[in-house]
Amino acid sequence: MGEDWERDYVEMIEAPWTDEQVENLNRWQQCGYVHPFTCANHHEGSRDLIARNDGWHCPTCPYTQTWAHESMMQGPPPNPFDRSP
Ligand SMILES: [Zn+2]
Repeated sequence: MGEDWERDYVEMIEAPWTDEQVENLNRWQQCGYVHPFTCANHHEGSRDLIARNDGWHCPTCPYTQTWAHESMMQGPPPNPFDRSP
């Protein structure tokens, strides 16, 4: 993690995103084993961002973010717990 991770995932895609991209982004956010994007503001309540066609939205405050990693758009995250072929 750290600097190596940053170098491997430099490709960013700006909103607006397609419905399919939004679906994939939200799968990454909710999968539970990848650290989700979170709101930059410090406040009570959920800070896990929710993807929409026009970008990320904080569920609790007006914060938005309009970029995501390109690798997150290509499909749901690999599941390390899924051992079926
Ligand atoms: Zn927030």
